[in-house]
Amino acid sequence: MHYSAVKYFDIANGTGVRTVLFVSGCRNHCKGCFQPETWDFAHGEVFTGETEDAIIESLKPPYIAGLTLLGGDPFEPENQKCLLPFLRRVKEKCAGKNIWAYTGYLLDTDLAEGGKCATGDTKEMLSYIDVLVDGPFVEKEYSIQLKFKGSANQRVIDCKHYVDTGEIREIM
Ligand code: SF4
Repeated sequence: MHYSAVKYFDIANGTGVRTVLFVSGCRNHCKGCFQPETWDFAHGEVFTGETEDAIIESLKPPYIAGLTLLGGDPFEPENQKCLLPFLRRVKEKCAGKNIWAYTGYLLDTDLAEGGKCATGDTKEMLSYIDVLVDGPFVEKEYSIQLKFKGSANQRVIDCKHYVDTGEIREIM
């Protein structure tokens, strides 16, 4: 997997102060996407064990709330394969930190069993995520007023609740 950036001390992509990983590769190609350069799976740097270590280290201070996965799209099948073992490490080494993820795919269709981006890794990956912001960016539904999402169609979902019950509960 490649990634375009890691942002430290971010406050725009989830609650509290966070580390944000922008992975490369996205097939959604939403009109008006704010970073189309990240559609290319080879964009940016190779995601290595050293990158993982640096992110894990950044999560340790008590004032850091957690990690956010952004894109590109973390739920492209290739990216899931790489992110799943990384998330296992984060859960093991950074107890108490929460994990947010953004995807252009829909949780209850595209990422559900039989969905176009459901793989053998999806279910376990979702089990590590606290909040999932899902759905494509829709330019005509864009508003600067929205909290933690770009367009009104997107949903900020309690992912733990979905994994436990199969029910979509939007939290804002
Ligand atoms: S899912 Fe995100 S990265 Fe992919 S095209 Fe849409 S806005 Fe851009």
